Amino acid sequence: MKIYNTLTRKKEEFIPLDPSNVRMYSCGPTVYGYAHIGNMRTYLFMDALTRTLRANGYRLTTVMNITDVGHLTDDGDAGEDKMQKAAARQKKTPWEIAAFYSDAFFRDIAELNIVRPDITPRATEHIPDMLAFVEGLVEKGFGYETGDGIYFDIGRFPGYGKLSGLNLDDQLAGARVEVNTEKRHPADFALWKKAPKEHIMQWPSPWGMGYPGWHIECSAMSRRYLGDLFDIHTGGVDHIPVHHENEIAQSEALLGHPAVRYWMHAEFMMVNNGKMSKSLGNTYTVQDLKERGYHPLAFRYFCQNAHYRNKINFTFEAMDAAQTAYLRVLESVARHKAAPAAADQSAYIGAFIEAVNDDLNLPKALGILHSMLKQPADRNVYNAACHFDEIFGLRLADCETIIKEIRSLHAPQGETDPELAELLEKRTAARREKNWAEADRIRDLITQRGYAVRDTANGPVLEKI
Ligand code: AMP
Ligand code: ZN
Repeated sequence: MKIYNTLTRKKEEFIPLDPSNVRMYSCGPTVYGYAHIGNMRTYLFMDALTRTLRANGYRLTTVMNITDVGHLTDDGDAGEDKMQKAAARQKKTPWEIAAFYSDAFFRDIAELNIVRPDITPRATEHIPDMLAFVEGLVEKGFGYETGDGIYFDIGRFPGYGKLSGLNLDDQLAGARVEVNTEKRHPADFALWKKAPKEHIMQWPSPWGMGYPGWHIECSAMSRRYLGDLFDIHTGGVDHIPVHHENEIAQSEALLGHPAVRYWMHAEFMMVNNGKMSKSLGNTYTVQDLKERGYHPLAFRYFCQNAHYRNKINFTFEAMDAAQTAYLRVLESVARHKAAPAAADQSAYIGAFIEAVNDDLNLPKALGILHSMLKQPADRNVYNAACHFDEIFGLRLADCETIIKEIRSLHAPQGETDPELAELLEKRTAARREKNWAEADRIRDLITQRGYAVRDTANGPVLEKI
């Protein structure tokens, strides 16, 4: 199996440290709000990697952290703690916020059929591990104290920048004007922050009450569960230049050797070719998609149409097309399921394995699935599709159920033309007034335009005839 290693900038043969226990760590959510579909793209990549490793016969231990303290609003050492800020806005405690949004996160990943990582440790439950890590760094001379915290001394770690390929000057060129003048180097980052009185989450430390820096959380929790050397670390590309560079610096400085063999990163999801951002109102969640009539698994299918190392552009038109294509796949699988076994499918299976083992080429693998499904109805096609589905995770074996679920969703907004939407509304109004004759007359007008109206628990939906 070949995977692309960000560190070496090459596709490499994956050689596990221990095939009976491949150890993998993925940066998880900061639970101060709902995860958006861009985040989900990265977790879907992690899921595809997990499934492919398992399909290759490896046994795995997977860890994904839940950040519930210490992630500041600018990803660096300035700004407010995201948890605390959300808590103040919602008049709740940070603990309540964390519980609420981590529940929402696990619900969303379950709906996307992402296999839940084996261990999902919370930062607030690992403060002693983090403190021990920071103390170790201070003892070795890599950490120093300032008025507001303990900082990592980047000048003492010559390997800084090896993951991103950025040297310190490059990094500084884009940096903000420095406010913390006590730092030895402007790119030095906080390992531990001293807590002002108003910071709700705080713990005793050798430097008084405080809370951990965001980066130390991942170094400490990965070490706790996966040891001093593990196989794979994943995340989104935005984490390469700061968060993961900092993790590398901390872990290697303490251990005296690298902690991770393969670094893997998912490219970004864009919306309408632009950035996803709260101010643009385009940070959609899985629940937003559902409200607009999309099945979570149709979003999963949508993501699989792009290679994880390419950007993917989300638009509702593309999402409509993905849902329709996914529905066709399910219908086709159902057709094969009902047929007797006939032809041998090993050529398709071989091509599929080759595609997924080539750095998770899921778009190519989907192409193979499509070609295979085009054959005459054959139970062997169904069996092979179910085998592929160990990696796709599209619940193909449950095709009848998912088809029903998709059909009962609202017609996607923007897909129906305004004239049809108006007719549908008029019909609903007529029915509300129990004017059945008028409702039937409008239904006929809709039928003449090529659509059938079906009344579901969620209201009427249009289906192409
Ligand atoms: P965060 O909660 O901001 O730490 O992000 C959680 C995960 O989502 C990280 O691995 C990020 O790299 C990733 N991520 C954030 N935004 C996007 C995006 N637009 N597309 C893909 N991945 C993203
Ligand atoms: Zn992390």
